[in-house]
Amino acid sequence: MRGVWWDTHAHVMDEAFAPDREAILSRAWDKGLEGIVAVGYDAATSRMALHMAREDPRLHPTLGLHPQQAHRLAQEREALEALAREGTFVAVGETGLDFHYDHPPRALQEEALAFHLELAKQLNLPLIFHVRDAASALLDWIEAHPLPKGGVWHAFTGTREEARRALRLGLYLGVGGILTFKNAQDLRDVVRDLPRDRVVLETDAPYLAPVPYRGKRNEPSYVVETGKLLAQLWNVAPEEVALQTRENARRLFGIHP
Ligand SMILES: [Zn+2]
Repeated sequence: MRGVWWDTHAHVMDEAFAPDREAILSRAWDKGLEGIVAVGYDAATSRMALHMAREDPRLHPTLGLHPQQAHRLAQEREALEALAREGTFVAVGETGLDFHYDHPPRALQEEALAFHLELAKQLNLPLIFHVRDAASALLDWIEAHPLPKGGVWHAFTGTREEARRALRLGLYLGVGGILTFKNAQDLRDVVRDLPRDRVVLETDAPYLAPVPYRGKRNEPSYVVETGKLLAQLWNVAPEEVALQTRENARRLFGIHP
């Protein structure tokens, strides 16, 4: 099937793709992708996403500073604000909270999160959230800080209850390669029962490649593998998953064909 799948979270600007970026993108289009959300993780990659999208309108850029980079907020802030004035983006992020390591300090991550919310309000855009060992902290934060256009919990691996809270707060849930991992039965059980109009597919390329590419460099074309597994879980044809998640992605990011 051609031109239907969406990868809603790919770092196609990453150095990992420097040697063969063009080939990776052609492979994605050949495999039946219609759109890729090119997610910035600092000012330089957000700028690159914007420039790549000007060359190819099937790429949709976002601007943000990854929570693991929150300690660079002071240096990055101005460049991100300038970019927000200069270009058209489909979302702000990825931002979020990552408490897996003690770095960067939580207070700084929360300051960066607040900065992203201000940008999202200015630009009237959804937010892309990275969440690691911080689900209740992030959900509490969103509860206290209403979002202008909703957002997505990317690489969702939460529990049923966390999913319920996220859905109540208006979030979409981004499902990626982890869904295909052998040890992810709990996640499959949660995703099976999610409302189908609130799920989007993603790769997080170059990270988190789905089976059968697990451990290798991930790329947008592999989103189809995750989509096929989701089709099994939902007991529908892959085409139906592609159409449903495409509609969800377009609604989330305000993209009108
Ligand atoms: Zn990411």
